[in-house]
Amino acid sequence: MDLLTIPKEILFHILGFLDHHDILTVLSLSSSLTHLYNDEDFWHALVLTHNITYRIDNTTWRDLYTSNETLKMCPHLQLSHRDNLQRQPKRQWDEDTDRLLCLEPSCCSELGNAAESSYYSNRNHDALHHRIALKLDQCQFLTVWCSACQTCLGKTKTEQYLVHQIIQSLPFLDDPTFVRRRKEFEIRLLMANGTYIIDRAWFLAWTAYLRDANNEYPGVLDNSKLYREDGRLRSDIKLGEHFELIGQQALSYIIRVYRLVGNDPVSSLELQHQAEYCQVYHSLLLRQQMLYHRRYRGHPILVLSE
Ligand SMILES: [Zn+2]
Ligand SMILES: [Zn+2]
Repeated sequence: MDLLTIPKEILFHILGFLDHHDILTVLSLSSSLTHLYNDEDFWHALVLTHNITYRIDNTTWRDLYTSNETLKMCPHLQLSHRDNLQRQPKRQWDEDTDRLLCLEPSCCSELGNAAESSYYSNRNHDALHHRIALKLDQCQFLTVWCSACQTCLGKTKTEQYLVHQIIQSLPFLDDPTFVRRRKEFEIRLLMANGTYIIDRAWFLAWTAYLRDANNEYPGVLDNSKLYREDGRLRSDIKLGEHFELIGQQALSYIIRVYRLVGNDPVSSLELQHQAEYCQVYHSLLLRQQMLYHRRYRGHPILVLSE
């Protein structure tokens, strides 16, 4: 039987039951289906079977489907969560308490006025219809939460992309009171010990942003100078000269608020038993000794408090 005699919708539905490896195999084996490999409508239809409606700019639906991310993404997060925020006028932030703000478009009038602990027990704000919310508390500042998946979103690259866009669309993002609260949170992240290797120039721009009143944004984190063309970390980089270390919580904050392009940061713990990186690791030990002997003087973190 020629598979193309089956209606397109039914064919796409059947193929949707296969995993992405099997689909690629089927497309390569059947001459009547090979053309689907370059058919974005086909890949879009497969992505939609997982209720995912967005992808990263300048990527294809095929990229998204074959990355296998669709299986791990929250199906409740939609472009409308971002678009609704973008339509709202800029406003002031006058809250000093922890907040959980509903991001559902049907609920926009309540944005900024939600009660926290009784949030979902409120009949008008049940977890079934008001799933996507922004957390603004002491531990999870600026995280996007799904009450149906019971998780903070941003586990895949595509989810991280939309979470970043949602945060950048918040109507109170530039309000001075909000910026002050945000900087307090970021300084705590900066001060925490960490093992993740990030570009020192970006790190210094970040500390300058947190210290200065002129609010010059550090921009997107790009670690590409720390990597070779083959994608591996360079072995000639040094702590304090080419890179600095941040913790896991700081890293996920940076990814969702500032965004990361290129290589995922490596943890220095992964390097300690690799001979190629003994010089890199040596620079970490030197820093530890310096901190111990100089009682932390000279560390860029302390520039903040001087
Ligand atoms: Zn969800
Ligand atoms: Zn709501």
